[in-house]
Order: sequence, then structure tokens, then C-alpha cells
Amino acid sequence: MSNKIADNLTQVRAEIRQAAAAAQRDAADINLVAVSKTKPADAIEQAYAAGQRAFGENYVQEGVAKVQQLQTVCSDIVWHFIGPIQSNKSRDVAEHFDWVQSIDRDKIAKRLNQQRPSHLPPLQVLIQVNIDDESSKSGVQPEQLIGLAQFIVEHCDRLCLRGIMAIPSKHADEHSYSAMRTLFSALATQYDQVDTLSMGMSQDLQQAIAGGATMVRIGSAIFGAR
Ligand SMILES: *Cc1c(COP(=O)(O)O)cnc(C)c1O
Repeated sequence: MSNKIADNLTQVRAEIRQAAAAAQRDAADINLVAVSKTKPADAIEQAYAAGQRAFGENYVQEGVAKVQQLQTVCSDIVWHFIGPIQSNKSRDVAEHFDWVQSIDRDKIAKRLNQQRPSHLPPLQVLIQVNIDDESSKSGVQPEQLIGLAQFIVEHCDRLCLRGIMAIPSKHADEHSYSAMRTLFSALATQYDQVDTLSMGMSQDLQQAIAGGATMVRIGSAIFGAR
């Protein structure tokens, strides 16, 4: 019997290679985060068996439960928190995840910094940018990005700022992606450790890779509809 999740992963990897080739980019520069929100730990284990190591979760309680459930069987998973963060949940995020892609304010950065356990490496973080100015989405406005980046770099030594993340609108054209690329380049010029531009989901993978994404977050194309 074929394994659907393994087949889907093979397909998504092929799409990444094709999109990279079309954009004259090296596919090795594009990291795949498998978004496992709402899916059981068993689905994550199947993707893990097919070689996937980075997984993204949106909801704190659900994510923490899976981190704990899988910590011995799949101990080298790299866990990304990609959902909105309420202050009263920040400690769970700081203690269980490796990356946080959804930082959008000083207060959350400060809390994660204080709460990151000293026996763990610094939390790798991305600032979320609300690139299409949608009220339904979190993230900083583009003009607030440099201020928050500066706050993290200067005041949060338990956080390592790696770049920026966005969820472009369903109707976004290439301008949203190129605006993100411009913000990313400016930040990378200013800070050496900045190397990650996270954009692209199941529906806009190609557009995001054409637009310069170095990390894509794919859920339904791997795990099926939610
Ligand atoms: C759910 C989600 C994804 C994955 O979306 P798919 O359309 O299922 O690929 C990526 N990023 C974020 C922030 C999400 O919430």
C-alpha cells in the first residue's frame, strides 16, 4: 500500500525544484516546513519517516502536546511556531519550540526572551509582516519592521533574529512578494545572521519561490485538506 503523505512530500519537493529552476535559483536554498496543524502526531511520524524534519504548528496547546508526544521517537524534529501568540501563552512557546515565525510586537519578543530556558539554544525568530495590510492578519506594518528588528537585536540576547515571514493575501500579485524581498534584503544587509524569507503555502508556492522565498510552509499539499 502506498503512503499518501510520503507521496505528497515527494510531489511537493518536485514542485519546489521546478519552481526554483524556473526562477533560476538553487532548490537547496529553499527550506520546507511541513505545517501539521490539526493533524495527528501519527501524520507527523509518517512525514518524518519520509525524511521531513521541520514542522510548523499554529496553536500552542496542540503544538506543545505533539512536541512532547514525539520528543523521544522523533528527537531531531525542528519545531516552528507559526500562529498568533497571546502573551499568556508565550512561556509554552519559549520552552517547546525551536523557531517562532510570528513575532509582531516588542512585548512578545521581550517575554519570549525572558522565558527562553537557559539550557536551550537561543530561539530562532522571524518578524511577521502584514504585507497586504489585512485586518484579519497579524504582523507589523512594513514601516515598523526596522524598529522591531532593532529591539530584538539590541535587547533580546536569547533570541536570534533570522528574518521575516508573511502570509500574502489570496489576491496578492507579485508586488507583495517583491515588497517582502526588498524588506528582507534591507534587513540582511544590516544584520549578518538574517538569512530567512518565509513565504509560500500550498496555493502560492511557485509565486513565493519566484519572489525570493528561502522557506516555504506547506500544510494541505502534504497532509491533505483540513
Ligand atoms: C496553515 C498555515 C500554513 C499552511 O497552509 P496550507 O495552505 O495548508 O499549505 C502556512 N503558514 C501559516 C502561517 C499557516 O497558518
